[in-house]
Parts: sequence; C-alpha cells; structure tokens
Amino acid sequence: MRLGDITLTVLDAETFLYDGGAMFGVVPRVIWGRLLEPDEQNRIRLAVRPLLITTPDSKILVDTGFGTRLSKKEHKIFGLGEGNNVESALAAVGVGPEEIDTVVLTHLHIDHAGGATRNEGGKVVPAFQNARYLVHELEWEDGLEPDVISAAAYRRDDYVPLMDAGVLELIGDERDLGHGVTTVLTGGHCRGHVMVVVETLSGTAVYPADLIPSRHHFRGAYVAGVDLFPLDVVEQKMQLLEAAARGGWTLILDHDPDGAVGCVVEVENGRYRFEELPD
Ligand SMILES: [Zn+2]
Repeated sequence: MRLGDITLTVLDAETFLYDGGAMFGVVPRVIWGRLLEPDEQNRIRLAVRPLLITTPDSKILVDTGFGTRLSKKEHKIFGLGEGNNVESALAAVGVGPEEIDTVVLTHLHIDHAGGATRNEGGKVVPAFQNARYLVHELEWEDGLEPDVISAAAYRRDDYVPLMDAGVLELIGDERDLGHGVTTVLTGGHCRGHVMVVVETLSGTAVYPADLIPSRHHFRGAYVAGVDLFPLDVVEQKMQLLEAAARGGWTLILDHDPDGAVGCVVEVENGRYRFEELPD
C-alpha cells in the first residue's frame, strides 16, 4: 500500500505452528478454538509478516521472521516449511538483501530476529550486509540475560553477531527514521518491545507487532500467555485501537493467519473489530 511518498509492502515470510493456549492466555480453549481451529497438539497456524517500508531515501525492514539458521528440530517444533523466509519474500518483490539500509527489530524473539543473521562459510553474519540494526536498549539487556519465562524464545546467535559486526544501534523510547516513520516503545509483550508508526499527510499506518498479533486480540482480556506484562498490553493496545478507530489508521498485523492489513471499527463502547483492506 502507498501512503504519500511511502510504500508499505507486507512480506509473507512463512507460517508457523504455536500453542493456542500460549497465544490466548486466560481465554478458554472452547472460545479461542472457535476463532482459530487448533490441530491435535493444540497448535494454531500463524503468519510471520515482516514489513518493508520504502521511503524516498531508505528501505527499512521491520522484523526478519525465523530466518535461515534453524535446526531440523526447530523446523519441526514450529511446523515450518523449507525455503520460505524473509529473504525469499523480499526476492519475490524484487528487493535484494543488500538494498536494505535499516532493520528494526521490534523485539528479539526467534520469530522476529531469527532472520537478522545468516550462516556464511560456517560463520554467523548479518543477513542484511548494508543495514544498521535498531533494537530498544531494554530489549538488548533482556536478550543477553532472558528471564526464565522468555528464555526459550531467545537465541543469542540471532543478535550478538550484530553487535560483534558493529552494525547494532540501541534505541530509546522513540526514534525518528525520517519521512514520518517512527519507532515507539510499547513494552507489554516484553520490556523493550517497540511498534512502528508511519504518519503522513495521506494517512497513518501502524505495525503493532506482538502488541496486537492478530484480529482476535482486539478485546481487552485476549492477551497472550507469553506476554510478560499483560496489563501493560491491555492499556497500550486499547489506547492504540481507540486512536486507530478515531483517526482511520491502518493496522498491519504480524501473526494474523487470515490477513494483515485493515482498519479498526468501534462496534460498541470500547469494543473494536478489524475490517480487512486490500494491501
Ligand atoms: Zn511474535
């Protein structure tokens, strides 16, 4: 989609299987199971959608999916196919990895930062050789020393090589990337989680990443079990949904299996639904 002189390209990098209970927290399975049907292992299939933001002078990639460095076992755990990843999704829209100048990692979990690096001759190197990589300073701290709840979602090899290569930039609570593109700290999912806001005279689009992973997370209590600060998620997402409904903003959802791009409609006081738009 286009917003003024900015193009937003949603990248269908891959899909993965994830425990439905972990995705919906306190919501009972009989309820979330009607929204997204689980398999015999209670897993639901989710999308992984990094976002390419093309401004007049920059190509910004927001998140990198699972990437190409997964073991066979990890492939199996997440139900990933072979050959689909952020690089193949970029190639499908005619963009080479060398063209990306900025990579924003909303946080460092494996499904967002796995593709930040790749193997080259037995060494782990930045996958986007001409890019600087932006990570919130709190997420960097937590990625180096994850808590026990999050430890399984972090692999140091996804991001420590970025620091070693001198391409990592730690960011604060807001970072202006030019042409109305800004990273904004949300916390909630993890302390240093950021979303990306694109604000132009032609309209506003927000990539909330795991603050609102799917249209089924619009209601207050529909918060993932893996969110470290669930009440912060509730506060931040309800604020965002209200502003998006009022302002006619576009949301781009990273894990929704049925579609990424849509607007927010208030159905009754404080309740919202997603209305899909063509991307
Ligand atoms: Zn995620």
